[in-house]
Amino acid sequence: MHELIIASANAHKIREIEKILESTPYKVIGLKDLGIDTDIEETADSLQGNARIKAQFLHQLLNKDILSEDSGLFVHALNGDPGVKTARYAGPEKDNNQNIALLLKKLDGISDRSAYFMTVICLIQNGEYHYFEGKIEGNIAATKNGDGGFGYDPVFIPEGYTQTFAELPESVKANISHRAIAVEKLVNFLSHN
Ligand code: IMP
Repeated sequence: MHELIIASANAHKIREIEKILESTPYKVIGLKDLGIDTDIEETADSLQGNARIKAQFLHQLLNKDILSEDSGLFVHALNGDPGVKTARYAGPEKDNNQNIALLLKKLDGISDRSAYFMTVICLIQNGEYHYFEGKIEGNIAATKNGDGGFGYDPVFIPEGYTQTFAELPESVKANISHRAIAVEKLVNFLSHN
């Protein structure tokens, strides 16, 4: 088993990545496993920049190969909002329910509800930076549906499906999500390097 240290304390994300990595020789170790209790501030104006900040922070602390990821939801009719500010859309509290409520309010009466989730993974390996992206297109539902997943999952219906990520089985999200696509590229890279 190869251990991958990930600069994240988000239990949902880590669980998803573990599920995606299930049939590979890789295992993730999160900030909590390392006893690190720091909320790394995301101050960049891109997912790539924020992924880099998180990976760099842990790399400087541990001097080991590090992984990080940053994700966002981009809604076409809202000019790409909430985008990089997805976590803080309704305010600095990063409150999920408030974020979703604001999104549904902004889309009220708008027929184009198309959107995509994007993940950027940053890998620092032997001091070099590598990036892997994953994207999934879909639509924002009219109301919240489902108890699974996390974040905006109750309002995101992936293309080709009629249910939200929060309604679909965990295994479906683990196969098709933005995060799954980015992790797949990472695993492919790691297996050849
Ligand atoms: P971050 O990557 O931790 O900065 O997350 C940005 C925001 O996107 C947070 O509000 C997350 O809850 C949300 N988010 C990230 N990934 C997903 C996902 O897979 N589904 C739903 N929401 C997500």
